[in-house]
Amino acid sequence: MAEREVVRSPKWTDQEIGTKVRVALWLRDVVGEGHIFTKAQLRDAFPDYAQVDRRLRDLREHGWEIETRLTRVSLKQDELFFVRAGEPVWDPATRAARVARRGPSARLRRIVLERDGHACVRCGSQAGAVTLSLAYVVPISQGGTVDTDNLITLCAKCNADRTSQPPGEEEVWLRMQRLSPGEQSRLLAWMALDRRPVSAVEEVWQLYRAAPINQKNSLKELLAHAVSARDEGDEPV
Ligand SMILES: [Zn+2]
Repeated sequence: MAEREVVRSPKWTDQEIGTKVRVALWLRDVVGEGHIFTKAQLRDAFPDYAQVDRRLRDLREHGWEIETRLTRVSLKQDELFFVRAGEPVWDPATRAARVARRGPSARLRRIVLERDGHACVRCGSQAGAVTLSLAYVVPISQGGTVDTDNLITLCAKCNADRTSQPPGEEEVWLRMQRLSPGEQSRLLAWMALDRRPVSAVEEVWQLYRAAPINQKNSLKELLAHAVSARDEGDEPV
């Protein structure tokens, strides 16, 4: 094990370092690759951290492979299997360099895209209609981290707009004030979600748009028929 220690890493017991890094070191040095551990053991090792399960999940975003009963049926309830270590999360320089080269992992991309509803968080354009990409809220070069909190889904246009000239706060606030009370409430709800939810009709519209032309025609006919039949039924006798 000693020859692998190219990067000098801190001890898992060091209270000064972040919990995620400590959990990573605990897995590597106490559990060891290819070994089973339990959630109870994890909680015993980190008694002061209620969120320790979450930090374990965060490690998966850094390529740490940890299996549960869902993927390894031989495990008992509460048991986890530490398959192998991923990124050396204790070494920020290594991580930043790797990220700059490779970008976020496929797993992390999936998580962010799913969270953002596979739509641009700025304009709401959906996958299929536009090409979506992930952007860092705080760039890696400026100390931004590679986690879900620092990543957002943007279409190419919004990403270009964002990097060219961010809007001034005053301008945005002025436009907010011009909205109707109903629109302001809706906007506030979107802010709370940090994305614009797509309505059912918009969702179906995107599906329709992505359909082949012959299906589009038949779908259009079907709906036209359904709508006209309903409207006739609605007419007063
Ligand atoms: Zn957009």
